[in-house]
Amino acid sequence: MKLTYLGHSAFEIQTQNGKILIDPFLVNSPNYNYSEVTDIFVTHAHSDHLGNAIEISKATGAKITAIFELANYCARHGAKTNGIGLGAWIDYSWGRVIAVPAFHSSSFDNGAYGGSPCGFIFDIEGKTLYHAGDTALNSEMKVIGEIYQPDIAMLPIGGTYTMDIENAVKASEWLNVSVVIPMHYNTFEAINVDINEFERQIREKGKMPGIMKIGCESNI
Ligand code: ZN
Repeated sequence: MKLTYLGHSAFEIQTQNGKILIDPFLVNSPNYNYSEVTDIFVTHAHSDHLGNAIEISKATGAKITAIFELANYCARHGAKTNGIGLGAWIDYSWGRVIAVPAFHSSSFDNGAYGGSPCGFIFDIEGKTLYHAGDTALNSEMKVIGEIYQPDIAMLPIGGTYTMDIENAVKASEWLNVSVVIPMHYNTFEAINVDINEFERQIREKGKMPGIMKIGCESNI
């Protein structure tokens, strides 16, 4: 399995049986080739997460999995969708996924309600990955650590709209995760951070900072 960071909170996961895109806001990866994408996951309706999801679904036939209200919006705009709620495992050819709570908001550019924001936990090829979406630190993370035991967590660290570095480090403890991939930082001024400070604090907890360069893939 290969993980590629596409900037902001966008990732590609290449599995043996499919290519997954998460929160495909691709301003930092304008030349990304999405032709082989089979599944798209969107954590909430904000435009820096919904990104190009609808366009990619229409071009490829990839299904967008999202919370019911957000999926309905995507379907109305011509995308293939899989509307879900929080809390149940959903099966795919390459593994399974469960949507978990995120403490944030979710609305479209016109202010319309986008359903609950969420994070996703992926069970793929024996590994468990947690993409937190946009969220504050919250005690659900203790539950996620206990029940789902993620190997890798993708956590927002940019502050202002989500957790900052300090709270993301605390989240990594509650999640009991050994590898933390930072996201949702340095895309624009309000979420600028010193990434070396993230690295220092994560290492201090005995964990591995999985800082990824945009466009680079790593085997996981
Ligand atoms: Zn957001």
